[in-house]
Formats: sequence, structure tokens, C-alpha cells
Amino acid sequence: MSNHDYSFETQLLHNQYKFDPATGGVSVPVQYASTYHQPSVDKFGKYDYSRSLNPTREAVEEIIAGLEGGTRGFAFSSGMAAISTAFLLLSQGDHVVVTEDVYGGTFRMVSQVLTRFGIEHTFVDMTDLAAVKEAVRPNTKLFYAETPSNPLMKVTDIQAISDIAKEHGALTFVDNTFMTPYLQRPLELGADIVLHSATKFLGGHSDTVSGLAVVKDEELGNRLYSLQNAFGAVLGVQDAWLVMRGIKTLSVRMQQSQENAIKIANFLKDHPLVKKVHYPGFEDHPQYEIHKKQSYGPGAVLSFELESEQLLKDFVNNVKLPVFAVSLGAVESILSYPTKMSHAAMPAEEREKRGISGSLLRLSVGLESADDMIKDFAESLRVSSAHASHQGGIR
Ligand SMILES: *Cc1c(COP(=O)(O)O)cnc(C)c1O
Repeated sequence: MSNHDYSFETQLLHNQYKFDPATGGVSVPVQYASTYHQPSVDKFGKYDYSRSLNPTREAVEEIIAGLEGGTRGFAFSSGMAAISTAFLLLSQGDHVVVTEDVYGGTFRMVSQVLTRFGIEHTFVDMTDLAAVKEAVRPNTKLFYAETPSNPLMKVTDIQAISDIAKEHGALTFVDNTFMTPYLQRPLELGADIVLHSATKFLGGHSDTVSGLAVVKDEELGNRLYSLQNAFGAVLGVQDAWLVMRGIKTLSVRMQQSQENAIKIANFLKDHPLVKKVHYPGFEDHPQYEIHKKQSYGPGAVLSFELESEQLLKDFVNNVKLPVFAVSLGAVESILSYPTKMSHAAMPAEEREKRGISGSLLRLSVGLESADDMIKDFAESLRVSSAHASHQGGIR
């Protein structure tokens, strides 16, 4: 019986790493060795140096490959290390079409680093397929999507983008950080490389910075392996273990966080001081149908716009439960301010063009009781609006 005969929930726990064949230990051993004794001059073992291959890292790489429906996984020292290494598949003179509301770090990599190596880019609204087609040049080699996007939760049709890419002999990368393979599996929709910041939902506990990449095609896998080894931004073994530990509870965490997120999104939507809530779980979300078709749920991240920037400041000061921090995808709810956090690397006019305003907050919903969160938010909004109106911040 192969792993894939089991449901996703079961596969999270029952894979070839269920126990250590040497000892029966029900946890993958953390192998700190950087180098490995070789039997003889003529016969080398499977492992020789831990940048090239390490048994603990190998375990998380194979686990994520299985969960994404790929053939090969790669673990990196951060999400950005995974993304940047994948970009190294490009060469001077190539062109990449990138979703316009891409993660701030990816924006920085594309606009400040790749340009220095003669790799061109065009940012497009990937919800607009006509605009995507228009952006194609003879040297377009890559389409880079992130769906739902950060922080406005716009949804890109992965299959449609992959089809356009194939027509032009180009690759498609999808940053699947917000969804995880529990909710969305881009390789099954035609993508070539799935990328993750495992710092987020896969790790899930705000205690590791790590990145993953998965491919289906064997040749592409060989090329990416070669780049992982050449660039060398590999994941350390302790962090590999933490990601594996996180993955074991992925389904229950995602399920509960999503259920809580749906309740909180609905509360915010009905609140008079909230101008707009961006969440792909709403039927009036512009790409609701596409998201429903390509994923198994709306996820646990949403963003919302308050009446004013002053109200936002007061709300953040008064709210008690969520941590106010960069990052997302953890057991605790995380409230963040894209303008000064995830998208600080983006020039103000670029942010405004994309609709990321100074009164927008992003919320990654965790495992607290949704009722407690709603009570906390309601009270903070009440106190803050009294303060803001006193300051003349609200008309
Ligand atoms: C956090 C994040 C990244 C970057 O990952 P790091 O682990 O912080 O390097 C990339 N993409 C998305 C969508 C993210 O949220």
C-alpha cells in the first residue's frame, strides 16, 4: 500500500519516517554530523557531507515532497533562501512575470537583486489573465504566483497561469505558504515548483525560520538539487526536526484556525468601523469561485481595513490577544501591519498602487477561542473609536 492510498491526515503521520529503523524511535533522529566516515577508497556511502545530503534534512524533504504530490523536496534555511535558490534556475537575459502583490522579500529579490544579474521582470495583477498574457516577452522563462496573495488575499488561477506558461515554454512557481498542501496542491494544477516559508503554517509554532521547495519533474529536481548544493543555503537539522514536528499536526491546526478565521472574518465584515475585509471564504470575494475550484478551503489569513490610520493605531494598542508581529501561520494569532512590516521593502507609491493602505491590518488566526478573539476585537474597536473620535480622527 503506498502512502497515497491514505487520506492526507493519515499521510501526515504515517510515512517512511514513522519510526527510526535503527532503534524503533518514534521521532526522526537529529543527525548533527557535518561529515561521514567512508568505508574505503573504492566505496563511498550515501552520505558524505551534510550540505549535500543529511539524513534529518532528507526526511523533511521527502515528507514535504509526498504531501505536495511531488517527487523531490528541498529544505532551505528560510523561505527566502528557497525562493532565491529557485530563481537561480534563471539566466542572464531571462524575463519573469511576477504577481504584483508578491511577498515583500520576493519583491526585493526580484527588483533589487535579479536586475543586477540581467534578469528582467514585469509585475502584473495575476487575477487578470489578459494582463498576464500581455506581459509575456520572447525571453519570458518564468511565471511567479502567490495565491492567496499577501496581504489583499487576491486569488490567482494556478491552472490558467500554468497553461499560459506551458504555451511559452516557461516554468510556473507557486508560493503556497498561505495554504499549505493541506488546502492546496499547486503541482496537481500544473505548477512546476511549489515554494514555502515553512516558518509559517508548516512549522506552525513561531519557533523556526525555514523554507521548502518541491518539484514533480525529475530533470528539474536534479537542477534544483544542484543549485541547493551550490548555493548552500540548506536547512539546519534542529530546524528540520521542528518543521517535521509541526507537520504532524498540520491538519488539525489548519482546520481549527480556518474555522476560527471564518467566524472572525464574519464579525469584522459586519462591524461598522471596518471598511473592508479581504478573505477568500466570502462569496462576494472577486475570485471566490476560482479559489473554491483549486483549494480545499479559505485558510486562516485575512486582512481588513479600518476607518482610519488613527483608529488602526488605537486598535493595535488596545487589542490584547493577538501578538502584534511580523509573520503568520502560528498557533497564536498574529496581527501585522503590512505597511511597516511585510511590505516595508516596497516603496510607498508601489504599495498604494497595489491598494495596501496605511489603515490595513493583516490577521493570521490561531487556535485561541474565536469567541474570545471576537470579544477582544469588539472591545478594542469600541475603546479605540471613542479615542479616535475624541482626537477628531473619525468624522
Ligand atoms: C514569510 C514568507 C516568505 C519568506 O519566508 P521566510 O521564511 O521569512 O524567509 C515568503 N512568502 C510568503 C508568502 C511568506 O509569508
